Amino acid sequence: MTTTSIGLPLSLEFFPPKTDEGVTKLADVRQQLYALKPEFCSVTYGAGGSTQDGTLQTVQAILREGQAAAPHFSCIGASKASIRDKLAQFKAEGIHRIVALRGDLPSGYGGFGEFRYASDLVAFIREETGSHFHIEVGAYPEMHPQARSPQEDLKAFVTKVKAGANSAITQMFFNTDAYFRFVDEAFALGVDIPIVPGIMPITNSSGIIRFADNCGAEIPRWMRLRLQSFGDDTASIKAFGLEVITDLCDQLRTAGVPALHFYTMNQSAAVMEICKRLGSA
Ligand code: FAD
Repeated sequence: MTTTSIGLPLSLEFFPPKTDEGVTKLADVRQQLYALKPEFCSVTYGAGGSTQDGTLQTVQAILREGQAAAPHFSCIGASKASIRDKLAQFKAEGIHRIVALRGDLPSGYGGFGEFRYASDLVAFIREETGSHFHIEVGAYPEMHPQARSPQEDLKAFVTKVKAGANSAITQMFFNTDAYFRFVDEAFALGVDIPIVPGIMPITNSSGIIRFADNCGAEIPRWMRLRLQSFGDDTASIKAFGLEVITDLCDQLRTAGVPALHFYTMNQSAAVMEICKRLGSA
């Protein structure tokens, strides 16, 4: 693993742009972020069909730029034959890393397909391609919103790891206790892969609150109140966001996390500034 100016390996997540202008802008954002020497860049994937061509095109662009790239790859609604074809395509493109997910079906989409859980996809990738791919999976320190209980979710995570995952990336979180407890409990159940914190920079207030509510991440009361109190004052929101997220990363680094994964939202400024502050901390 590459150790960076922040003293830890890091990875960056992008989503496929929908317009030509977005493609150009993202290429520029990536060039700026490559200065951070990421271990790899991952690109999200629309479960059930949307954006999948965009994912591959963005991954191809990253590979052409000489960086390691990992498509996110979801199985919900898919057949084994279609997953097999896609894996062959990934191999042919020179891809060696995949973020394997169940995904969420878009509303109105038909059946589940031939895979029920991400663990089925991980097992299938291993069966079909051996050790070709480094497989990342998702982890939920504050429980996946559809899980029946934290214990069942943890058990499901362990199953997914034992199916053949090499490392995990967490859902975003602001509560470090939840992360540390999750890691301790997973390790106590025999998990021995890196569980990398997923870090979401805060650049606006309503967006982060909505996103956190949707994915089941708690925004501590003091943070929510502060964010709401800024109203439309975007400069104060950004300044507060940088302070809080740099502090979160610093606490995680001090505790010895294996790496950090940044949800860039296709923007460079916040991630660059957080890493600059961590570099000089
Ligand atoms: P799973 O691990 O299959 O878990 C889904 C649910 O099923 C959980 O509630 C779990 O407890 C339960 N479960 C699992 N196995 C069992 C079992 N054997 N028995 C009973 N219950 C079980 N979504 C996208 O559409 N595109 C993306 O690019 C994308 N990128 C992501 C990146 C990261 C790092 C993370 C953390 C999430 C991402 N997601 C993405 C969201 C993800 O697809 C959703 O959270 C989805 O609802 C669950 O996917 P999973 O792979 O975690 O599912």
